Amino acid sequence: MSVLVYAETENGTFRKNAFEVASYASQLAASLGVEAVAVAINADHPEALGAYGIGRVLQVSEDRLKTFNARATAAVLKQAVSQAGARIVVTSSSTDAKYAASILAGLLKAGYVNNVVSLPEPGESLVVRRTAFSNKAFAYTELLGDVSIIGVSNNAFGVVENPVNAAAEAFAPALADADFGVKPVSVDKASDKVTIADAEIVVSGGRGLKGPENWGMIEELAGVLGAATACSKPVSDLGWRPHSEHVGQTGKPVASNLYIAIGISGAIQHLAGVNASKTKVVINTDPEAPFFKAADYGVVGDAFQVVPELIEKLKEF
Ligand code: FAD
Repeated sequence: MSVLVYAETENGTFRKNAFEVASYASQLAASLGVEAVAVAINADHPEALGAYGIGRVLQVSEDRLKTFNARATAAVLKQAVSQAGARIVVTSSSTDAKYAASILAGLLKAGYVNNVVSLPEPGESLVVRRTAFSNKAFAYTELLGDVSIIGVSNNAFGVVENPVNAAAEAFAPALADADFGVKPVSVDKASDKVTIADAEIVVSGGRGLKGPENWGMIEELAGVLGAATACSKPVSDLGWRPHSEHVGQTGKPVASNLYIAIGISGAIQHLAGVNASKTKVVINTDPEAPFFKAADYGVVGDAFQVVPELIEKLKEF
């Protein structure tokens, strides 16, 4: 028996969430007294997972998976489950991982619980804690069945170093064209900007910024901090920013270490998607803006004055 972890890659490099799920899986495996095994698709350095307690890596080299494909990834994971004799599969809660994990659950007739924020409680049954109702509550879910899939909430568990020697073994799952569902095409990355899913820090702008011409200072602040940029829903609806930056209940979820909200009122639908962030900083002219109630730090002030000053101060470090 083992715990299998899906370690996501992008252009041959592990995504940050791969190290977090590896840390989670190795601790889970240790608590159960079983082996932790990873699946790495097209990873240039699979042995890097050894730093997070993974001693065995099934290394898949598959050109057709250089572009993510959920169905084919699920087919790889299904075969890896048999290869590793896995009882539990651990993935991140990225959009790609959620997509593949849902298909895998169908293929394996397995239970799938996502947005998990803790290791199972000690005891005979495997009960995990997950966020529910847009992070307003926790739900406790028992893992039943022969195989279960755990989707770990991004940034909830953290990266835990636990160095072991990782042995990579070539693993060549059988993949038919039908497993891809659609013909793989190449995707050019639009830019080298930090993505919201991978970001430690997110700088987010709202309607208080008045128009798209004022986003230069948001980009600059994000650049100084190595942060991703995001926005409220109306901002993307108005076409000021791309929809890929829309965060909140109906947009991308954010669980960064630091979330800086500039000119955003803090409507419940916005907060629902971002309040899992560890530290929230709000800059708003209106001291009654609801976001201040959810904030760890707040600046009552005009973004057009505060943000340039903040950038200058940060550049001094
Ligand atoms: P506003 O509400 O217009 O707030 C602008 C803020 O900027 C104000 O607080 C103002 O005081 C401040 N401000 C103005 N000038 C300045 C300045 N110079 N400097 C600093 N601050 C300034 N919204 C989301 O964001 N994400 C979602 O996923 C989402 N999903 C929704 C789903 C549903 C079903 C519904 C009904 C709504 C949803 N909304 C969502 C919309 C949400 O209700 C709010 O309307 C929206 O979040 C408001 O965006 P905002 O804060 O940018 O704009």
